[in-house]
Amino acid sequence: MKKHFELSEDRSFASREEVRSLQDRLLAEQIRYCRTESPFYRGRLAGFPDREYDFDSLRELPTTSKQDLAEHNEEFFAVPVTGIADICFTSGTTGTPCRIVYTAADLDRLAYNDACGYRAAGMLPGEKVLLTCTIDRCFIAGLAYYQGVVKLGAAAIRNGLNTLDSHAEVIRTLRPENIVGVPSFLAKLGQYLADNGIDGSCVRRLVCIGEPARNRNMEPTPLGAKLDGFWPGAVHSTYASSEIVTSFTECSARCGGHPPADLAVVEILDDAGNRVPDGEVGEVTVTPLQVTGMPLVRFRTGDVSFIIPEPCPCGRGTLRLGPILGRKAQMLKVRGTTLFPNAFFNVLDGIPGVVEYYMEVRGTALSDEITICVACRDGASPEDLGVQEKLYGRTRIHVPVVAVDPAAARQKVFGVSRKPVRFFDLRKY
Ligand SMILES: [Zn+2]
Repeated sequence: MKKHFELSEDRSFASREEVRSLQDRLLAEQIRYCRTESPFYRGRLAGFPDREYDFDSLRELPTTSKQDLAEHNEEFFAVPVTGIADICFTSGTTGTPCRIVYTAADLDRLAYNDACGYRAAGMLPGEKVLLTCTIDRCFIAGLAYYQGVVKLGAAAIRNGLNTLDSHAEVIRTLRPENIVGVPSFLAKLGQYLADNGIDGSCVRRLVCIGEPARNRNMEPTPLGAKLDGFWPGAVHSTYASSEIVTSFTECSARCGGHPPADLAVVEILDDAGNRVPDGEVGEVTVTPLQVTGMPLVRFRTGDVSFIIPEPCPCGRGTLRLGPILGRKAQMLKVRGTTLFPNAFFNVLDGIPGVVEYYMEVRGTALSDEITICVACRDGASPEDLGVQEKLYGRTRIHVPVVAVDPAAARQKVFGVSRKPVRFFDLRKY
């Protein structure tokens, strides 16, 4: 396995066939590594033929779930304790948090991964990047964003989880061309700059993490549209997770994220675990390549999306992953309809006067009972803003809407995790 990853090795612009053949070679190598070095896969793959697996035959191997990772956590470690360079915890928004370990080579791989993503978004060496996320708190993504900036040859401004005022001051004085952050926070920052007459026109790219900025039709969500209003043409959505140690970043076409050519094999699976054709929606399942600390085979992320089948106008031979439509575990069943919380959240993001919101779900195995909790600006009520009617207009579902205090709502949404949490699952089945 490799120890160093150089940006000059990025093969993203090779043809689709060349990318596939590169991935097949690395996939065979990764599966062999798992069979010999990972205690979990020594057992899990014992009954399967010892052969050179490629993209086609990969489907014969079993998938790996978050449950596997939680129940057999240490068995996934493929190096002795002395070979570990960094230990993280998954965010634990669903299920049991577990440890993810990285070797020094994995950290270099991550730096390469993020630098490839920045490059896809059009970022250039010599530019400045304002990082509005934390790089500590056992959070791998923030560290990866930082290391990617360094690997690319740009300059990081690690202002982290700081106040709007502090970020505005950085923008005013240092004039960064790029910002990395959570879309809902970046929208607040854009509003703050506008309200205070601060010129944010230096910012040419927003690398958006953790929340989708586009919908199933690749149109901007209300949140994405808000960002487009403040920074036209700047939004680049990304998708990544601590387990898959690979990110998908939108290129200049801003229509689906590319993974680096040599870092991951991606499948979209249906509920029965079968691959769906490109373009169809299913669970994003990833086999990360060239990982040494905690390699995974066919890891089911729990996130639902689709592959965009058409070749990308940017010329990359790597696939494009659409926006994450929701988490499989958060799928809602309401009177015979299935939908994701984002269907409601996208409407709420587009209502001026709604300052914060979250959803509580209760119910039985047959039907979910949804309550939308909304905090409004300046003493207005959800009825004044027509929240219930607007939700019905888009989802055709009547849901109870209750008013909540803005400060309490913010505490509830931002108080439990590193990411905003707006979905509270109180279902008992
Ligand atoms: Zn592209």
